Amino acid sequence: MSSTLTDPSVYPISADTVRELSRPLFGHVIDGEVVPSADGATMPVVDPATERQVAVAAAGSAADAERAARSARAAFDDGRWRFLAPLERERRLRRLSSLLAERADVFTELDVIDSGLLRWYESFIVQFAVDGIDYYAGWPTKLEGTIPSVPSDLVVYQHREPIGVIGLITPWNGPTSVLAFVAAVLAAGNSVVLKPAEQTPMSAVLMAELALEAGIPPGVFNVLQGPGESAGAALVTSPYVDAVSFTGSVATGSAIQAAAAARVKRVGLELGGKSALIVFPDADLEAAAAAAMMGVWGASGQVCTAGSRVLVHRDVREELVSRIVEGSRDLRIGSGFDPGSQLGPLVSAQQLERVRRYVGYGLEDGAELVLGGDRHGDVGYFHQPTVFTSVRNDMRIAQEEIFGPVMSVLEFGSEEEAYTIANDTDYGLAAGVWTNDLGRAHRAGRALRAGTVWVNTYQMVYPTVAYGGVKLSGHGRNLGAASLDDLTQVKSVWMKVG
Ligand code: ADP
Repeated sequence: MSSTLTDPSVYPISADTVRELSRPLFGHVIDGEVVPSADGATMPVVDPATERQVAVAAAGSAADAERAARSARAAFDDGRWRFLAPLERERRLRRLSSLLAERADVFTELDVIDSGLLRWYESFIVQFAVDGIDYYAGWPTKLEGTIPSVPSDLVVYQHREPIGVIGLITPWNGPTSVLAFVAAVLAAGNSVVLKPAEQTPMSAVLMAELALEAGIPPGVFNVLQGPGESAGAALVTSPYVDAVSFTGSVATGSAIQAAAAARVKRVGLELGGKSALIVFPDADLEAAAAAAMMGVWGASGQVCTAGSRVLVHRDVREELVSRIVEGSRDLRIGSGFDPGSQLGPLVSAQQLERVRRYVGYGLEDGAELVLGGDRHGDVGYFHQPTVFTSVRNDMRIAQEEIFGPVMSVLEFGSEEEAYTIANDTDYGLAAGVWTNDLGRAHRAGRALRAGTVWVNTYQMVYPTVAYGGVKLSGHGRNLGAASLDDLTQVKSVWMKVG
């Protein structure tokens, strides 16, 4: 559709990706078929680096949500997946991870076009999905039950059953990463309807096709495209859907939890954060500055765990800020496909507008702008890396999630004060601490109210480790064994034997 995309001198993308882009429609995937919306509605797929339309996706409505959910319900109820032998489910999930590894380039490239993320970053995300599927592929044979102690004339066994149909609603950042969570849902024996963000519809279609190729039966993993307010909302309230897992904004997550309450559905929410990255005076400042930069320039700040509040001890503030400003001043801003790019675009015009609004709030509230502060260029949704100092924790740029390349630097004196400021937020997804004092590292791990605390590292994730938030950052855990608790329920079977 767009000549620049298929011109290898501009975007060196693979022939397979070019072929995928020539699909007439990125549709829903229901019962193993790629289908248009019932009413034929479509939405454009836009490359945020060029603002050009690159493809067309189906724009689903309540009718499509109903079709997708009904099909997943039938697939769950007849047991075509959950009653397959556990070893066989493991084999098919492993096949899924191998297929994804083989096609990693296509997934990476489609996601870069859709989301604007840098290619190396997205490659890491696709590899993360491969790792996650490998991890969950080992679980079906290991979901064991228990035999509780009861009076001797009785025997009771308790085992974990899948919940049923899971509605999985996701945001735009790192679209293919969701396949790791889909693998968790499937490892537990559930069926799933994935509703990807309307900004990034492409790779979801390929994910469902890959699952079919791996031997996951049709209907077990369906994809519903379209806007949140119509398709997404209908999925949440569908009588065919048993539980909802959502990643996105607090406002939408809270609305989803309220809507799901009508049918008492289980809801898992991962709702972003305003994570503090705390730098103590004894820290390795070079490493801390590098982590602070990666923590908020990575994915142009569009990461839930972005370390967007940098809390630095007043004795080392000047040095840290100057390292950050020097290290960020000449970042090369450009397309995710340009190997020289260090900062890609934001996902959409709307997101760019949001970042610009928050820069305005920072200035209005009296913070000092020491780097950036403006849009970059006039084509593509690029924004300069932006650093505010003299930020007070009650300012909007310290309290609200911006989801862009904007760093707020705050100062503290005592260790106690650092934890008080770090915890003085509605969010609680993650926090980072830079110190060489072992006792302080452990105290921080205890004091910080967040689902994850990193010490002398930042934004580490691994499939075996639980990930999720506290407070307005949500509840429920993705990854690790803990995620399987959220995706199963315990059944008790009683027998009278005496
Ligand atoms: P963002 O992260 O873009 O600020 P959201 O949190 O609203 O926005 O979006 C994350 C995901 O939630 C997307 O897939 C979006 O389509 C979906 N969504 C938005 N509104 C609703 C809703 N009312 N019900 C269900 N899903 C929604």
